[in-house]
Amino acid sequence: MKRVLLKLSGEALAGEKKTGFDEATCIGVAKQVKQIVDQGIQVAIVTGGGNFWRGRTSETIDRTKADQIGMLATVMNCIYVSDIFRHVGMKTEVFTPFVCGAFTSLFSKDAAVEALNEGKVIFFAGGTGHPYFSTDTGAVLRAIEIEADAMLLAKAIDGIYDSDPKVNPEAKKYDEISIQEIIDKKLMAVDLTASIMCLENKMPMLVFGLNEENSIVETMSGNFNGTKVTV
Ligand code: UDP
Repeated sequence: MKRVLLKLSGEALAGEKKTGFDEATCIGVAKQVKQIVDQGIQVAIVTGGGNFWRGRTSETIDRTKADQIGMLATVMNCIYVSDIFRHVGMKTEVFTPFVCGAFTSLFSKDAAVEALNEGKVIFFAGGTGHPYFSTDTGAVLRAIEIEADAMLLAKAIDGIYDSDPKVNPEAKKYDEISIQEIIDKKLMAVDLTASIMCLENKMPMLVFGLNEENSIVETMSGNFNGTKVTV
């Protein structure tokens, strides 16, 4: 693989605290990404926003407004994580699908690919820019647009299970599963819109636990311990 899109769930960025940022976790991620960037892999990153806000959890305010807050949460996440990446020695650029003044660059495929070719790690913040979507969908969309070889999904859980392991101690982890099976069995490793986009555009995914030892580097070097999603 030469170019990958790494999706970091907001929850995973928060570590044990489950909210906000866990600096040690983010520095750990940055050091791992630096190793793969130093091997010549181009990396684009999407972060979730669940460590701050989820649009659908508010029953009081309008869904569109709630989702806008969610998208802004992902901008905060990307600004924070990208600066941790700079701290460990990488060049970065944050793109958003809407204007954020001087905070970020406006996304276009050409600008993003140019930044990757300059050796930058790029961040896609702000999701798709539209309500009623998720950062999973934003991540798949951007992975397709930049013609990534695969999407790496680093989650708070170490793969895809046949049922929720927090609820069912007998839950079984898949080593490999097709995206069609994920859709048919409603496994929701990524949401349905994102799954359908993966299926239609043949974007494979590697799902693994962010908290597993060195999991990003291990995944990229073939020592993969999560779930491979085939298309
Ligand atoms: N969001 C949105 N449009 C997008 C991406 C994200 O409206 O294209 C909002 C939505 O409110 C979501 C929040 O941003 O709940 C955080 O994104 P994430 O995908 O992490 O949310 P989760 O899937 O954890 O709810």
